[in-house]
Amino acid sequence: MEVIVLRIAVASFSHETCTFCPNITTLEAWERGGIRYGESVLFTDREGPSYITGIKEAISSEKDVELVGILRTSEPATVGMGGWLTTEAFDTISDRIREGIKKEGNIDGVLLALHGAMAVTGVPRPEAEICRKVRRVVKKRPIMVTLDLHANEDIELANSADAVFILKTYPHLDSHEIGRMAARCMVETIHGKFGPTMAMQKPKIICASVFQASQSYPMKEVYSRCREWERKGVYCASVAPGFAYADVPDVGFSIFVVTNNDYELAEKAAQDLSSLVWSLRAELTRQLPKAKEGVTKVIEMVNKGVKPIVIAYHDDRLGDGTHILKELIKQGARNFCSTSIADPAVLNSLVKKHKVGDTVTVKIGGWVHPISGEPILITGRIEYLGGADWVETGPMGKGAKRHDNIVASLNLGDNNHVVISERLRAPMSADPLKAIGMDVDSLDIVEIKSRVHHKAFWDTWAKMDYPIDPPGTTPADLSTLHYENIPWDIYPIGEKWRK
Ligand SMILES: [Zn+2]
Repeated sequence: MEVIVLRIAVASFSHETCTFCPNITTLEAWERGGIRYGESVLFTDREGPSYITGIKEAISSEKDVELVGILRTSEPATVGMGGWLTTEAFDTISDRIREGIKKEGNIDGVLLALHGAMAVTGVPRPEAEICRKVRRVVKKRPIMVTLDLHANEDIELANSADAVFILKTYPHLDSHEIGRMAARCMVETIHGKFGPTMAMQKPKIICASVFQASQSYPMKEVYSRCREWERKGVYCASVAPGFAYADVPDVGFSIFVVTNNDYELAEKAAQDLSSLVWSLRAELTRQLPKAKEGVTKVIEMVNKGVKPIVIAYHDDRLGDGTHILKELIKQGARNFCSTSIADPAVLNSLVKKHKVGDTVTVKIGGWVHPISGEPILITGRIEYLGGADWVETGPMGKGAKRHDNIVASLNLGDNNHVVISERLRAPMSADPLKAIGMDVDSLDIVEIKSRVHHKAFWDTWAKMDYPIDPPGTTPADLSTLHYENIPWDIYPIGEKWRK
């Protein structure tokens, strides 16, 4: 007897676009970052868990199902976080997905691992547009989408995809799990055992990433309510708090609920989650201390024995920000490590002219954009200079093999250290610091340019995680940004609430 093989296409085109960051994201940047096609889309060795590994696991027990790799992008090579995607970049890559699926011929379903916070010049809702392109090829066959928790989506995605599954953890630790859920749903749907039925709600709230940690109040409450609905029969309840730094019309919270043929249940859950989120809006939009007062507070706490402390320099997305380092030095902090000032020019000159052990005076940072602060003059002994390799042992990307072409560490005295990197380098665990010889446990203050992801490891190491809000491209205080495309009634910065 001939076995009929079901073929599920897999494609991934993912970007969190910071439209307030100065450099646009071009096709060239995507090509340089790397785009894979065909079978290699499904190779995941030494990458750590991901949507794709989850999809593969779900399919591994299905004898009559085959995955067909179409296209998968890596991070585009931009300085810091990429700004607006060019229309050319978006059209070219999304057309390649459509054409790749078309070329395969008989495809029974499509799994798209997208992000949700992509922002494209001239394309207001890129993820929905990708689905519409694919829809023209696969017609009525199911299209299912996985998204990051920082997704900004609305009714247009609900209208163009059969089911939407979104991460529930920030730090993001469940991409494997969400990929598996989506793939399982896809297989059951193709077999006719599942009827994906969605409800969508959009509470009008925009909030900074730094307030969205899934293990902390208030988002912890939201995700435990999602789990409650899943225990009551919902297949997947998703709440994305969104990405505030994409100036797009569907910015902010997005709720998608998937059930098996139960519209009533889906709608009830989505409405309940929406009112829960609305009730938490004040906590989601609070203010944080600025650089000077924040660093003063940290030093005070360290002196009282509350240590070590991690400073989350959460709004530097370009990597060249100097505001916190400046205050640490000025206020006489000791035993600190500033874990990343991106400055490739200084790195190059160190490599050319110096070696480990030399004492150097360099001006670092503050070169990408004035908002990052002035370049800062430091004198220190080179304690590390060269490439670095490590395997992540922390929860984020556990098992993944990482590499830096070139990185330097300067010892400023008083057990103070500054790491100079080629681009923004936020250590997700102590591994990247240990890889360059840092005695991490001797530190009282570790400054990391991250919002929440670092907490997966660093909350287990530090007494306290302390976010500070110096000037930066992605501030906690969203009222300081100039938006042009967001809804009139979005809380707390839409026109309606400003009056
Ligand atoms: Zn995210």
